[in-house]
Amino acid sequence: NLTERLSGVIKTLRGEARLTESNIQEALREVRIALIEADVALPAIKVFIEQVKQRAIGHEVLGKLSPGQAFIGVVHEELMAIMGGDKADINLNVAPPAVILMAGLQGAGKTTSSGKLAKWLMEQKKKKVLLVSCDIYRPAAIEQLALLAEQTGADFFPVKTGQQPAEISTAALDFARKHHHDVVIVDTAGRLGIDEAMMQEISQLEQLLNPVETLFVVDAMQGQDAVNTARAFAEVLPLTGVILTKLDGDARGGAALSVRHITGKPIKFAGVAEKLTGLEPFYPDRMASRILGMGDVLGLIEEAQRTTDQQEAERLMKKMKSGKGFDLNDFQQQFQQMKKMGGMSAMLDKLPHQLSQAAQNMNVDEKVINRTEGIINSMTPQERAKPEIIKASRKRRIAAGSGASVQEVNRLLTQFEQARKMMKMMNKGGMAKMMRAVKG
Ligand code: GDP
Ligand code: MG
Repeated sequence: NLTERLSGVIKTLRGEARLTESNIQEALREVRIALIEADVALPAIKVFIEQVKQRAIGHEVLGKLSPGQAFIGVVHEELMAIMGGDKADINLNVAPPAVILMAGLQGAGKTTSSGKLAKWLMEQKKKKVLLVSCDIYRPAAIEQLALLAEQTGADFFPVKTGQQPAEISTAALDFARKHHHDVVIVDTAGRLGIDEAMMQEISQLEQLLNPVETLFVVDAMQGQDAVNTARAFAEVLPLTGVILTKLDGDARGGAALSVRHITGKPIKFAGVAEKLTGLEPFYPDRMASRILGMGDVLGLIEEAQRTTDQQEAERLMKKMKSGKGFDLNDFQQQFQQMKKMGGMSAMLDKLPHQLSQAAQNMNVDEKVINRTEGIINSMTPQERAKPEIIKASRKRRIAAGSGASVQEVNRLLTQFEQARKMMKMMNKGGMAKMMRAVKG
């Protein structure tokens, strides 16, 4: 996936101070391949790569970021941008009833999404919702929507046998006005492929209903095929947004990029499960992370921005290597850094093995950490620099100052001594590993 490819890129770009046309060439090639693998449509890829390139070239690499990380940051931002940037809300900004028309191929998830959307609107927006089925070609389809209405508690418009979609629509609108529905969701028939009759029918419905939202429902698993469907629907209907369904079945999410690019319309919702709660507002930033498949790499970038700079880390590492000169001041600094990095558990995962082991041996948990830090804070810089001067009276003062007992102060000093010994013991190989880990 993209992550694997990009981790190669990070290595390539390591040590470069700036992203240049030549050093990002290979990185861009990896991104291109990853997007092809994710089944993103070629025109969308082309535009995307061009945008990343323009943004990345000359991009100053932040002191704490490696160029590889900076590059990934650019890719992430551009992924977000191509999927619409900010989250797009559903528009209900009309005199009620607000009509939502669902369009798409058969099996895309229109009926299911109608039910899910009804539920979402009732729960999240406190709307009174009417569900209407214009899918007269398959009796089971009307049944399906009636059942969804029952399950969600939405109202259902009773269709009379023989009624045509146009009649159903106008009758349903009257019904909704009379019963004070806020929202009318109109489910439509789909065909297995795009055909003229179907397009004419939905286009006629659109003119009759004058919907505030005409949502194109598309199956994420269709990948590139989604593009042709999207184009056909966008040509005949003034689409206002997209519902991307079955994202739970497609880990790659390439369709999200293509569909947005082709229709130019925001993806408003994502179907993430078959069940009725499986509809979520679509967040471009989350989807971008998902396509990158690397929440962890992004976390790393943020972390690098937040924590102390690399030189500081290297200075500490040098001290640790010898065990000489590593004192409680450094220890204190590590605690502060640890807090910035999201606490103990987050830290342990990222620490080089030996240090993580040492921390575990010290039996640390969050509470103990806070206490330990409190004790260290109560020491003078001189005491931190030379812990061996901390004798009985100083211990009593430190204990009183931090609300700890003298035993706790003793324990901390012993543990620190152990950690320092451990650092001395670390061999060269271990050190090299650690340096690599710190450099990310
Ligand atoms: P329609 O022909 O467009 O009305 O499609 P349906 O709503 O009948 O959905 C077709 C199939 O896709 C059904 O089996 C649904 O349960 C399933 N489906 C729809 N949306 C999702 C989704 O987001 N996730 C999963 N896993 N299945 C979905
Ligand atoms: Mg249906």
